[in-house]
Amino acid sequence: MLAQDGEGVGRMHTGCIEVVCGSMFSGKTEELLRRIRRARFARQAVQLFKPRVDNRYDALKVVSHEGVSADALPVAHSEELLGCVAAETAVVGIDEVQFFDPAISGVVQRLAGQGMRVIVAGLDQDYRGEPFGPMPTLMAIAEYVTKLHAVCARCGAQACRSQRLVAREEQLFVGGAATYEARCRRCFVASAVTMEL
Ligand SMILES: [Zn+2]
Repeated sequence: MLAQDGEGVGRMHTGCIEVVCGSMFSGKTEELLRRIRRARFARQAVQLFKPRVDNRYDALKVVSHEGVSADALPVAHSEELLGCVAAETAVVGIDEVQFFDPAISGVVQRLAGQGMRVIVAGLDQDYRGEPFGPMPTLMAIAEYVTKLHAVCARCGAQACRSQRLVAREEQLFVGGAATYEARCRRCFVASAVTMEL
């Protein structure tokens, strides 16, 4: 049988690591929150974390693009996260894990070693199509890896990359923040491309 996640394993307190990854708009946060919700239904003690750098939607919540949210504790780095995990916690969730420092893989190993089920979600590739920060290591040490796909904004195929779009010079406004769209391997360009309006 193909196990998709460590739901049963986590209940037996043997500990495990689960990675949910993919491009932007692939539903990573949605999947993380689904697993967290099920653990809470099962009356397991759950703690949800996010990196402090990410305050796109709400500082104290994890919010998916679909608007589903859950309370999360923002932490500045992996060491702070480790210090915040309570002994009675059974399930640890981490969103946007690609933004953490390299030591996050050791922290995750340690928590799983203590019998916790650790579920992390993050972008597997950056906007150049390169492996993102600690993701390759996390994917290697995990018991379960789920790769989700978005839909290519250009051709409708399965998308695995996050295309960075920049506005034309005359369109630069409000801080010139980059936007992204999901693209397949064929439509992806390994640099920022000018936004088409
Ligand atoms: Zn495409």
